[in-house]
Amino acid sequence: MPNELEEFDFENRIVSTEEIPADRDAELSLRPRTLDEYTGQEKAKENLRVYIESAKLRGDSLDHVLLYGPPGLGKTTLSAIIANEMGVNIRTTSGPAIEKQGDLAAILTNLAPGDVLFIDEIHRLPRQVEEILYPAMEDFALDIIIGKGPSARSIRLPIPKFTLIGATTRAGQLSTPLRDRFGVILKLELYTRDELASIVMRSASILDIEISESGARELASRSRGTPRIANRLLKRIRDFALVRGQGVIDEAIAREGLRLLEIDELGLDNTDRRMLEAIIKFYGGGPVGLETLAATIGEESITIEDVYEPYLLQIGFLSRTPRGRCATAQAYEHLGIPFPSAGGAANSRQPSLFDGAED
Ligand code: ADP
Repeated sequence: MPNELEEFDFENRIVSTEEIPADRDAELSLRPRTLDEYTGQEKAKENLRVYIESAKLRGDSLDHVLLYGPPGLGKTTLSAIIANEMGVNIRTTSGPAIEKQGDLAAILTNLAPGDVLFIDEIHRLPRQVEEILYPAMEDFALDIIIGKGPSARSIRLPIPKFTLIGATTRAGQLSTPLRDRFGVILKLELYTRDELASIVMRSASILDIEISESGARELASRSRGTPRIANRLLKRIRDFALVRGQGVIDEAIAREGLRLLEIDELGLDNTDRRMLEAIIKFYGGGPVGLETLAATIGEESITIEDVYEPYLLQIGFLSRTPRGRCATAQAYEHLGIPFPSAGGAANSRQPSLFDGAED
């Protein structure tokens, strides 16, 4: 039994939706290149097909597109597909990578007409950089200030007509002027088990991994609705199948491998369970504020919001109230903890009897 199957920290948390180094090698070959190859997200695809077709008929560039949704759902992949379907080049960068106005100005002036500029994590763009995006998106121009003080003047430089594709995990954090400049706003949803199973089957055939349909469904149902996790589980269980089985992933091998990775039938790992347990044991089931919860389990609040919560909310284990997060009856049941009767601790703000006792 290789050690690595037994231990994983957050950096390499197997169900983390963030990209980890092990993802990158197979990444390029696994990324679908056309809308037809891109599984799921039917609503987003249907809209995009119309916009792309219409832009092509008009011989124009595509409107600016904002893609939002949790990490690992295919925002980066979809932007490359859009550029590919439009037959243009894509330039990729991210909000935190652009520190100064000049950085963005340099990128914009180097684009060819019709090109796609993809800005990942666009909500993290510094405010003063964001400001030069407004005229760029609206009028395809850069406003440059020359000189200082009373003699300063602004000149307007034209730039090629381009398509901005912004990706964000949190559309709510985008400033209104920026959000309003996107003509197309698309929300990516968590994938269904069937969609993930077909993504797993497709990836397995690209990577030459033998897998049964029931094995693929097993991996799919534990991937938290996220293709990035599905692909990662496939690779980890492939290793397990090589060492423990005949190299073929069937349902039994998938289950056994996932058990060793401590990923339960719903795709929850230790960190998810620890978070739910903290809400239940230390805060009587909630509500507990995000910051308090983050401090209790030693995670960043942004990680809780982006990585853990979307899936726990989706499967109904967590509810978000104005006063904080609450664990639901289903979460209690899943963890094997009796749900307090009505009026009990679950919906009270009182600290539970356990509060602090296990610190
Ligand atoms: P995001 O940018 O939203 O974090 P990515 O585009 O990087 O997500 O996708 C993560 C991984 O999941 C990639 O390896 C990609 O190949 C795979 N993937 C994402 N969406 C799909 C899809 N609809 N069909 C097949 N594979 C997908």
